Amino acid sequence: MTTVPAASTMVHARAPGKINVFLKVGALLDDGYHDVAIAYQAVSLCEDVRAFHADDFSVSVTGTVDLSRVPTDGSNIAIKAARLLARRTGYRGGVRLEIDKHVPVTGGMGGGSADAAATLLACDALWGTNISREEMLGLASELGADVPFALTGGTAIGTGRGDQLSPALAKGQFQWVLALSDAGLSTPEVYTALDEHRQQYSQDIFPAEVAPSVDADVLQALRAGDPHMLAECLHNDLQAPALKMAPSLAGVIELGEKNGALAGVVSGSGPTVAFLTADLDSALELQIALSAAQMNVVRATGPVHGARIIND
Ligand code: ATP
Repeated sequence: MTTVPAASTMVHARAPGKINVFLKVGALLDDGYHDVAIAYQAVSLCEDVRAFHADDFSVSVTGTVDLSRVPTDGSNIAIKAARLLARRTGYRGGVRLEIDKHVPVTGGMGGGSADAAATLLACDALWGTNISREEMLGLASELGADVPFALTGGTAIGTGRGDQLSPALAKGQFQWVLALSDAGLSTPEVYTALDEHRQQYSQDIFPAEVAPSVDADVLQALRAGDPHMLAECLHNDLQAPALKMAPSLAGVIELGEKNGALAGVVSGSGPTVAFLTADLDSALELQIALSAAQMNVVRATGPVHGARIIND
């Protein structure tokens, strides 16, 4: 997969964050994961990872988002990705990683997953380990359910844990406005809240689905590239527990929809709220309105492509 000379002293890779335009959570599996059906869209908020030769493994982090929850020790998923690649390929050196983050942390937009994907790509090129695409997707899936999608990007359907990907036909560009939140929501805690709610109220009447699938109208809207159609079918099973854990998000969704968004949906496990707009003008207007309400907002377009090497 190397696209840079083997003797390079630094490799720069970029990988996108994502929005889940559709997320259905099925049954809790024996391995502790849920069976899910996700329609992913990669968006133009990206993570940049620069990898330099080193004897051991280290990471430093800069960026435009709140970095206080990003670890800089071995628990950083980028270090885990580099170590995993070294272990599997028998590479004996290390790497110094510099991450420049633009995807909100614990925002449900897969920023850590993007770091892991960019790191796999950068280290493979830096070290000349040259693993195949299939091997890289396998390592990505070991690192986390969303990591394979950060490698492939575009628009895709994820089943299983979300890591069994198949491409989805998609036309055009969608305009998103993202309302960020200071407090993060932990993905495992949001899933646990959903399980508890289901056990308490609905398990007997609506047992959690085995092998859920993405609704046909979502696939049709993506194929048509029609934001109005897609807005009608944005869906996230994690939205209800996320709203329960962060009740102020309901007001955020309402405010966005009052100010021209076609629809708003909690992205992944939240707390980021993704608003779909009809076009660039409406996105700009919504961004101004939400900023005027003292909210932290960014604009993004999608789909964009997956992790790639940048030739600086
Ligand atoms: P997802 O949408 O994939 O569930 P997320 O976008 O909600 O994830 P991330 O920002 O990817 O959340 O990070 C989740 C947690 O992982 C953070 O609380 C942080 O402590 C830890 N973490 C480890 N490595 C990283 C990294 N490189 N960037 C961000 N967080 C990291």
